[in-house]
Amino acid sequence: MTEQCFYCKGNIKNDTRTHVVDLGKCVIIIRNTPCMTCEQCGESYYTDDVQKRLDEIIKSVSGLMTEIAVIEYSDNAA
Ligand SMILES: [Zn+2]
Repeated sequence: MTEQCFYCKGNIKNDTRTHVVDLGKCVIIIRNTPCMTCEQCGESYYTDDVQKRLDEIIKSVSGLMTEIAVIEYSDNAA
């Protein structure tokens, strides 16, 4: 499936990136998060599934009393 960039209509390729969420009291860093990256302008997108999974990961980690959490992206339930 080939998609086009929302901004520049460039080609989108499968990629991974480091997703960083600043919740104020803690920062969550999720490594190797699958994303779609525009080859032209470098804009990155998450699919709905990945976005949903990120929300779950963030929810489960945000309960921890930690300032910085660095975790690997995983499809497995926490
Ligand atoms: Zn683009």
